[in-house]
Amino acid sequence: ERIVSAAALPQERETETSLRPRSLEEFIGQRQIKENLAVFIKAALQRKEPLDHVLLYGPPGLGKTTLAHIIAREMGVRLYPTSGPALERAGDMAAVLTNLEEGEVLFIDEIHRLPRVVEEILYPALEDYCLDIMIGKGPGARSLRIDLPHFTLIGATTRAGLVSLPLRDRFGIILRMDYYPTEELHEIVRRAAKLLGVELDDQGAWEIACRARGTPRIATRLLRRIRDFADVEGARLVDRDLVKSALEKLEVDEAGLDRVDRILLETVIHKFQGGPVGLDTLAAAAREEAGTVEDVYEPYLLQMGYLQRTPRGRVATPLAYAHLGVPLRQDGER
Ligand code: ADP
Repeated sequence: ERIVSAAALPQERETETSLRPRSLEEFIGQRQIKENLAVFIKAALQRKEPLDHVLLYGPPGLGKTTLAHIIAREMGVRLYPTSGPALERAGDMAAVLTNLEEGEVLFIDEIHRLPRVVEEILYPALEDYCLDIMIGKGPGARSLRIDLPHFTLIGATTRAGLVSLPLRDRFGIILRMDYYPTEELHEIVRRAAKLLGVELDDQGAWEIACRARGTPRIATRLLRRIRDFADVEGARLVDRDLVKSALEKLEVDEAGLDRVDRILLETVIHKFQGGPVGLDTLAAAAREEAGTVEDVYEPYLLQMGYLQRTPRGRVATPLAYAHLGVPLRQDGER
């Protein structure tokens, strides 16, 4: 398991739930999103109407699920959680929808993975709060319309581009979540330390924040692993030195890159003179699967500007050279 993976690990669900902020006020960062949501929620409450359907999109681990729970809580209603892959058949969707009560929130994580037939059930439900069911087959078939309660759908996705246009059009509120700046991660780490009963000093918190890849989930995971080192060493205070030495053992460097990230960059630089190198060739040279490189490792390297994607392949940027301490050649070649 990769310590800097933004995806949730099954064993950390429980801790994550306990660390979740419970109100908009408690939720750190994403200021514009919070301000807008506060207005939409207040307006809906004043009109005594359910909130418009909300689509949250952005990279994993940024707080989409957390925000969905907060929205339901602030609206004073229950949230029913499910996910795209869990709703396999039209009947699954119909069952979920008919079980909702007035005003409740249906949360569909990974909504881009809803099968087409299931998605189509959702259209009239979102628009007219009704369900069209076909009874029978062939010429004798007829359709039956069932009224549904007025509910709010909150969809979350890491791949907005994969949400079909007709589905996207049915969300009144679309919110894009972005990576957190270090200052906000610093605050998130301090808050988590308090909740976990870890005595963490300010410098230590900064050190973690800088290496958390803009992602709260990674920040809190690093904190929990560092706490393990502190506990075993019998250290009462987690300070910068302790954080640094623990992260060194965990092989997470100053920029939050792990061993494989660095191997990939070194491969491009040393084996392919900085690139361009095709994805398959690069993956083979680094002994990783091409799909894993593309989906798991590359996004952060691209986002941070260590790697560039060109039509001819991947290229290491001067930033990657600087980070690895490799001098850039002066003769115009990389
Ligand atoms: P996503 O659904 O986007 O993958 P989650 O909502 O599951 O992300 O958040 C992952 C973890 O990070 C949770 O433990 C959550 O408490 C924490 N977290 C996310 N955003 C924030 C935030 N803004 N403030 C504090 N903690 C946060």
